[in-house]
Amino acid sequence: GPRTPADLPETTTHCPYCALQCSTELSGGPGRVGVRPSPDFPVNRGGLCQKGWTAPALLGTPGRLLTPLVRGADGVLAPASWDDALDLVAGRLRRTRERYGADAVAVFGGGGLTNEKAYTLGKFARVALGTSRIDYNGRFCMSSAAAATLAAFGLDRGLPFPVTDLDDSDVVLLAGANPAETMPPLMRHLERADLVVVDPRRTRTAERAALHLQPVPGSDLALALGLLHLAVTEGLVDKEYVDARTTGFEAAWESCAAWWPERVEAVTGVPVADMRRAVRMLAGARRAHVLTGRGAEQHSKGSDTVAAFIGLALALGLPGRAGSGFGTLTGQGNGQGGREMGQKADQLPGYRSLTDPADRAHVASVWGVDPDALPGPGPSAYELLDSLGTPEGPRALLVFGSNPAVSAPRAAHVTERLSALDLLVVADFVPSETAALADVVLPVAQWAEEEGTLTGLEGRVLRRRAHLSPPPGVRTDLELLHALAVRLGQPPERFPVRPREVFDELRRASAGAPADYSGISYARLDAGEALHWPCPAVPGGDHPGTPRAFLDRFAHPDGRARFAAVEHRPPAREPDAGFPLYGTTGRVLAQYQSGAQTRRVPELAEAAPEAFVEVHPDTARRLGLADGALAEVESVHGSTRARVRVTRTAREDTVFVPFHYPGAARANLFTGDALDPRSRMPEFKVSAVRVTPVGER
Ligand code: SF4
Repeated sequence: GPRTPADLPETTTHCPYCALQCSTELSGGPGRVGVRPSPDFPVNRGGLCQKGWTAPALLGTPGRLLTPLVRGADGVLAPASWDDALDLVAGRLRRTRERYGADAVAVFGGGGLTNEKAYTLGKFARVALGTSRIDYNGRFCMSSAAAATLAAFGLDRGLPFPVTDLDDSDVVLLAGANPAETMPPLMRHLERADLVVVDPRRTRTAERAALHLQPVPGSDLALALGLLHLAVTEGLVDKEYVDARTTGFEAAWESCAAWWPERVEAVTGVPVADMRRAVRMLAGARRAHVLTGRGAEQHSKGSDTVAAFIGLALALGLPGRAGSGFGTLTGQGNGQGGREMGQKADQLPGYRSLTDPADRAHVASVWGVDPDALPGPGPSAYELLDSLGTPEGPRALLVFGSNPAVSAPRAAHVTERLSALDLLVVADFVPSETAALADVVLPVAQWAEEEGTLTGLEGRVLRRRAHLSPPPGVRTDLELLHALAVRLGQPPERFPVRPREVFDELRRASAGAPADYSGISYARLDAGEALHWPCPAVPGGDHPGTPRAFLDRFAHPDGRARFAAVEHRPPAREPDAGFPLYGTTGRVLAQYQSGAQTRRVPELAEAAPEAFVEVHPDTARRLGLADGALAEVESVHGSTRARVRVTRTAREDTVFVPFHYPGAARANLFTGDALDPRSRMPEFKVSAVRVTPVGER
């Protein structure tokens, strides 16, 4: 039927969910908002996935939070006025700080927050609270790719080229990315290319591949080193490019010299002939791309794994060459912008450093505060969650745009830590599993009710526009932070509530920084300009932005990209007699992240109603697991209950559970807390598990 009643002007905005940020046109009034894909936006080109088509259902979702809630003496969350709720929060934050110090208050942000919100949240933490304890859920998503690309190229931008460059690519290697399921409209850009897919599962993307390499979970780094080894020994290295544009090739060769093909096959299970074919396909293509996703990144060696795939791309001369390249596919809606705006434990806006005196001075002057009063770097997301309510850790936590009770690793332990706090405050528009643990819940506006910007996976800054006003009783995050800051003694003008004002401030904060937004304005974006950062303010005209970042030079001072010397190592915990299988986690098309939003959309709940555990038929037979029966997936950290799905997409030695579901079905009940030493990324993608049938009564 028609989805767009024609009685109201349409609003052009973007989907609330993933990093593809498909452009949409919203129409119709409250209760009957219609959506259609914008026909001309180059990223989705008239396409949306099932999540985008059904997003308006979120606006009036039953159970939507419409009033603040405060937990009473009886332990029940009960409605309260905004003034009462905010007074209570501010009073308790003040007392916590006075009694235990500024670091006793912590903030946890999200990669779906707009740039304006992420920026304000970082400023709020460091100025209004004076705490170093702030990090965000992007640490669980993009941090390994960020660490590796920063080291290699001197700049961390997910795709340093427009998505449409992929249209003309001949060969695309996807390492641990499953866009056919996670961001289907992206596949429109991969129709021409031959795909080489690296994934332990035979995913929807792998089914469309010319070549599927199916490594043992946790062995992707060895595979990448093996591919680089083959590129060298087969004489496929682009020597001219390597000489002119890179450093460190010799050291990278030394680190992969011992990874001869047969040894790599023994470790990864990938046949030598397939590896050779993959390298030849990439080297023989006129235009080729190497892209990584969470499958390569969410490991205790995630940043080294990405570095090794970058090494392969550099050896073949792809990054910074017109029509070719290396990139990472961002996951969350503002996965790119969310990590540039200063909600990360170690960074100030624009990717400025929290430890560099000049960076601190610049941002402090924009904020109108003393640079010496700014705290230093704090612990990473998991370490922060792990420390909550401990004698040395924070006693109060504010959560914005995240649901760590479901999405953090070792979820039972994290839930326990959240419950041990003196004060947990959650701002959200749905009663998430984390909100259910809170002492105070603050209802905030959602995507189609707010203005702002997000930065898509190709570094293009996008406008989010309000189609409706927020329902009565609901505030925007910026209004909420303003009201709290004022109650904490901040001058009101320091925390603007209008997104446009915040954007103008973040332009100044990012001026001259790697992620420079100073030349971008709402006016330019609203005029339809496609602006990719860096886009500095230039005198006497408009900078066109930087759709392709490295064509002339990489962002290191010498202009060269750096190979890394990395060593393969096994996952923190390999299967053994007690826990003989690999357990891995990921996403399905009809759900998004912790599912707090998508599980409430009827069409999506119907399409993907519950968790499942994918088991290979032979493994199922051996373990007595019947299709559709309940099973327990157990690691040393905990166990998850889900229905068995017998399927050949799984390797015999591996089971897969999607992580969108709550309660006993949380996949993160079995994931562990091993962290990548550089990025502090937890090892979501490899656990050692056993699977047993659960008797149903
Ligand atoms: Fe597009 Fe992602 Fe939204 Fe799907 S979830 S419509 S791929 S932005």
